Amino acid sequence: MTIIPSTTPVPKPYQIFMSPTSPAPSPPAPTSSAVPFPLPDRTSQTPAPSSTPPTAHQSPTLRLEIRSLSHPGATKFLTSVTASTLLSTAVANVQTHLYSSPPSPTHCPPTRSVTVVLRDIGGVAYTTGTELDPSHHKEIHFSLNYIATIRPDRLASEITGVLTHELVHCYQHNAQGTCPGGLIEGIADWVRLCCGLDPPHWRRETKGKWDGGYQHTAYFLEYLEGRFGVGTVRRINERLRGRRYEEKEFWTGLLGRPVEQLWGDYISKVKRDEEGEGAEVTVDEGTQT
Ligand SMILES: [Zn+2]
Repeated sequence: MTIIPSTTPVPKPYQIFMSPTSPAPSPPAPTSSAVPFPLPDRTSQTPAPSSTPPTAHQSPTLRLEIRSLSHPGATKFLTSVTASTLLSTAVANVQTHLYSSPPSPTHCPPTRSVTVVLRDIGGVAYTTGTELDPSHHKEIHFSLNYIATIRPDRLASEITGVLTHELVHCYQHNAQGTCPGGLIEGIADWVRLCCGLDPPHWRRETKGKWDGGYQHTAYFLEYLEGRFGVGTVRRINERLRGRRYEEKEFWTGLLGRPVEQLWGDYISKVKRDEEGEGAEVTVDEGTQT
């Protein structure tokens, strides 16, 4: 497991998308999610042409393809989780966390099928759209080599966590491909966090930028959800639908202040909590900047 250092430059959206033959950016370790998760390709995140009505979640066709049944990772997968239950539950969790209403209407992309492909590849996992219909049909490619390295007592949780993260990519909006990659990955790990699937090594970090991605941004989103109310991340995701991302307008329009200010408030709170004061940051909710 390699945790992204806080000083690691934030990857631009889709910049580090991994082709099936690409080597892993760093070798995965046994006890945790290797990061960075390769980002989904641009086509897989193209906003869907239509959406389901609020709360009318559709269940996609789910498929599992194991390309190498003799691989040790395949045995570990098949003996540690029940794929049908895992996938359907994970889809429901993703839809609930991103598209439940109230507080505001949301529009779930009409993803019709998700195929999980267990393969002998590097890295951890990546999500892509199928060639013929990337908006409706998704593929999650999951590394058998990585699964083979997971510690036995972490197998079920880690496999479920990785698949939940990737399923978010099958359903989230991305501001027509302009959303910062760190926010895309942060939302994916925020859902994983909400599902109680956070690996033991995850920590709230006070260094780096707000869009460092993965758990770094996921904990920031958790803070925003607590500060601005349940449904805040759903509103963030919804605002990424069918429009381009303009940072100042995005955050000020949604939460009334620039994201850098919100990040500063978050850091202050984490530091106070770490110091054991447990004091809440006093915020003037009426301040507009
Ligand atoms: Zn991801």
